[in-house]
Amino acid sequence: MDTVFSGIQPTGTLHVGNYLGAIRNWVSMQDRFRCFYSIVDYHSLTADVVDAAGLPEKVFDAAVDLLACGLDPKKCVLFVQSDVSEHTELCWILNTVAPKGELERMTQYKDKAQKQADNINVGLFDYPVLQTADIVLYKATRVPVGQDQLQHLELAREIVRRFNAKFGETFPEPQAIMSTAPKILGLDGNAKMSKSLGNTINLRESPDEIWQKLRPAVTDPARVKRTDPGNPDICNIFTLHKLFSTPDVIEWSAGGCRTAAIGCIDCKKKLHEGMVRELAPIRERAITLAAHPDDVWDVLRDGARRASEVARATMEEVRRRVGVRRS
Ligand code: SF4
Repeated sequence: MDTVFSGIQPTGTLHVGNYLGAIRNWVSMQDRFRCFYSIVDYHSLTADVVDAAGLPEKVFDAAVDLLACGLDPKKCVLFVQSDVSEHTELCWILNTVAPKGELERMTQYKDKAQKQADNINVGLFDYPVLQTADIVLYKATRVPVGQDQLQHLELAREIVRRFNAKFGETFPEPQAIMSTAPKILGLDGNAKMSKSLGNTINLRESPDEIWQKLRPAVTDPARVKRTDPGNPDICNIFTLHKLFSTPDVIEWSAGGCRTAAIGCIDCKKKLHEGMVRELAPIRERAITLAAHPDDVWDVLRDGARRASEVARATMEEVRRRVGVRRS
C-alpha cells in the first residue's frame, strides 16, 4: 500500500480554502493509503512574526478542525511535527546533499523573501529541505500537492536521488497526487483564500456568520443591474457552487446567471444552503471536540508515538548509511 505524507501549518481554526484545497482530500485518502498527517509547527517559525505564546492554541485548533472534518485516528496518523525530533535531524543530513542553486530558484522562497525582506532567514531558504525530511522520514511514496507545491516536490525527488546515489538506495522518490480542487479564492474574488488576507470563511462559523460574509462577496462585475447577464465561469460564487451544491443547483445557477433569470443574492442563498449542509456537522463536531481538550491532546500524543516508531527506524537506517553511529 502507498504511504502518503502531508502537512499543514498551525494557523488556528481552518477555513473553507483549507478544507476544499486539502483536507477533504486527506479524509478520502485515509481509506486508501497509509497516511501520515502532520501539523507542521517548525515550518511556521520561518514566518516574519511568530506568536510564540499563541502557538500551542493554534496547534490545538488545527487538530480540532482536522478531526472535525473527518480525520480518523484509527485510519491515519495525526501528529505535531515538533513531537518527532527526527524531522530536524534528517533535515540536517539532507542539507548536505540538497543543491543550493535549486533552492535559490524556488518560487515560494523568492515570494516570501520579497514579503519579509528584513527577515530572510535561513529557515525560509531551507523550508523545502525540511519538507523533504517530513516526507521521506516515513518513506512516503505519494504526496498530495497543488500546482504551487509541485516545484518543492520536484526538489524533494532530486534530493532523494542525490542521497540514494551517494549513500545507497534508502528512500523512494515520492510521486505527486495532484489536487483536483481549483484555486479557492477569498470573498474579495481576487486573491487566494487566506487568513492573513482576512478574506476567509472559517469552518466553525455559524450559518448566520457565513451568510454575513457571502452576501457582500464579489461576483461577476458585469452584473451591475439585476437584468444584466453574467458569466459564472469568472465568478468565485459559482466556483464554490461547484464544490458545495448539488448538480441541479449548479445547473440552475449557471443557466440563471447567463440569462439573468436569477439575481446574485438568489444565487448566493442557494450556495449558502449547500455550504451549511456540509459545514454545519463539521462545526458541531469541532465545538464538541474543543470542549474536550484532553481527548484531542491524547490523539496527538498517540499520533506522535506511532509516527516516532517509523521515524526512529528510518533514522537508524540513515545513520548507518551515512556512517554516523551513536556512542
Ligand atoms: Fe456569480 Fe451567481 Fe451572480 Fe452569476 S448569478 S455573477 S454565478 S453570484
